[in-house]
Amino acid sequence: MHVLGIDIGSTASKVAILDEGKNLVATAVCSLGTGTSGARRALDDAFSQAGFGWEGVARTVATGYGRQRFEQADKQMSELSCHARGMHHLLGDARTVIDIGGQDVKVLRVGDDGMLGNFVMNEKCAAGTGRFLDVMAQVLETEVAQLEVLDAAAARPVEISSTCTVFAESEVISHLSAGESIPDIVAGIHVSVAKRTAGLARRLGVVERVAMSGGVAQNGGVVRALSRELDVPIAVPDRVQLTGALGAALYALDGAMRDRSRC
Ligand code: ADP
Repeated sequence: MHVLGIDIGSTASKVAILDEGKNLVATAVCSLGTGTSGARRALDDAFSQAGFGWEGVARTVATGYGRQRFEQADKQMSELSCHARGMHHLLGDARTVIDIGGQDVKVLRVGDDGMLGNFVMNEKCAAGTGRFLDVMAQVLETEVAQLEVLDAAAARPVEISSTCTVFAESEVISHLSAGESIPDIVAGIHVSVAKRTAGLARRLGVVERVAMSGGVAQNGGVVRALSRELDVPIAVPDRVQLTGALGAALYALDGAMRDRSRC
């Protein structure tokens, strides 16, 4: 038996297929989010890895911003619950999860059973999100995947004082025209993301072990800056962008097991 979790985010679509032993048999990430062909592309990719299609899937749970529009799902669940559950599976002792996605930042408390506790989120503004970093990478004529490499070469991070994406973009352009190095500008951007995220995390309270999830957790520059800002180590599991899809697949597996025990 196999189950499927799909996380249709604002920026990227992620799929995880599990067998009944909770082993990942296929995963896919497509950098296109809700309202695009991203979900279909990620599904095609995952099904071709798995060697079967919908006929081989016992149950599907959808999560993420675009979950309500995904008709093939047996159930929709909030990304908060799915990130908590997915992280608990990957790092069982994580108690604070900081999820920076394309469009929002969330800080969650996870119980020792993997259930979601309290949470805080910033969803009203792009500042400090993946979108903010995507815009900055474009201005600096680089890719988001390169930001951590540039950050590691910084000597003296510049200061970015604006919290608004549009004003921060103007500040970055001013730093560029003043001749500041790209690594120093990138490191300054990461510090500004870290300060904003740390403020949110402190509102919830930082309980160790702290872990990051979501696409931005792949940026080691942000992880290092946030770890310095909060003064705690931050763990990042492998294939971290799939955490929400994995959590959705684990909830799908619970449902499939319940269905089976009723038969
Ligand atoms: P959502 O669920 O809201 O669609 P994700 O958690 O998938 O968001 O994260 C998307 C963000 O991840 C992008 O906006 C981008 O900034 C960042 N990202 C994606 N791939 C990478 C990478 N290889 N390195 C650094 N950042 C990345």
